[in-house]
Amino acid sequence: MAQQQIVVSVLGCGIMGSAIARRSQHMGLHTIAWDRNFERARKVGEGVEPVEHLLGAVNKADVVVTMLADAGAVLSVMDEHRGIDAMKEGAAWVQMATIGLRGIMKAEQIALQRSDVVFVDAPVSGTKGPAEHGQLVILASGDESKVPQAVHALFRAIGQRTVWFGPVGRGTRMKLVMNAWLAALMEGLAETLTVADSLDISAQEFEQVIAGGPLAPAWAIAKLHKIEAGETKDTEFPLKWADKDVHLALDAVKETKPRSLPELESIAEAWDRAVAQGLGDYDASAAYLALQTSR
Ligand code: NAP
Repeated sequence: MAQQQIVVSVLGCGIMGSAIARRSQHMGLHTIAWDRNFERARKVGEGVEPVEHLLGAVNKADVVVTMLADAGAVLSVMDEHRGIDAMKEGAAWVQMATIGLRGIMKAEQIALQRSDVVFVDAPVSGTKGPAEHGQLVILASGDESKVPQAVHALFRAIGQRTVWFGPVGRGTRMKLVMNAWLAALMEGLAETLTVADSLDISAQEFEQVIAGGPLAPAWAIAKLHKIEAGETKDTEFPLKWADKDVHLALDAVKETKPRSLPELESIAEAWDRAVAQGLGDYDASAAYLALQTSR
């Protein structure tokens, strides 16, 4: 008997949702795309099925992926607009956006309204390129023993690795740790290149000295190239979401084991200003641009 094709529905056709949908389709999963702006869903890519109405996108899926901007967007779609009610019996809701501790707890509460639905907290490490090429690292948490095969198939399609961390919330915790690290690297690079510029040392000269050594993480070098090429408008990870994630990490520390985090706090202030200046939709590497107009 022919095996039934797995149906994945990706809610949110922004940078990451579109890339995940394209990869999922490319790897043989029937993939539906939904966005509140239907034009975006229509443009995701050949073979991906755009569906205009939320409930129609959700009710066919074995796996519903939420890859929306923030906790507010995820809760609006799944709770206020009742995406949760439309899910098929036995389907899984895989929450992949970065929504913080409170956000993931609220999402879990919504999922619990459906005892026949499996909820997986699965934020991802990696950006647009890795998503397109199946190279994401999936930071999964939830009851692994109940996770349907369709979820594993999706994770194999879009990820190079899935790491399971235990109960719901642990994946989100790890994601906040990862993005605190990323923010420190980003602002550190932006300020280092600004020091270099003041001292008439080019980014290229600096790179030559650190290349291949322990002071040259590949991610930071890629961002250095982006800054050097003047391509910070070519967005992989929007500065506004990097800023959101710094705030989510600070909030999470406040709510769990409060301590002062001078660097993250000052990054949050600097990036809030950069977003207010209109750099929020630029890539996170625009943290460098923000410094060029600061005094
Ligand atoms: P994005 O390009 O800005 O896309 C955001 C999506 O959310 C869009 O589809 C947008 O819809 C939708 N949305 C926003 N508010 C909404 C609302 N109230 N109701 C319904 N839909 C709403 O963002 P992204 O870069 O794909 O990131 C998505 C999430 O993944 C964020 O939490 C981000 O922090 C996280 N993340 C991003 C990266 C990355 O490298 N970009 C990597 C890992 C994790 P419209 O099309 O209508 O605006």
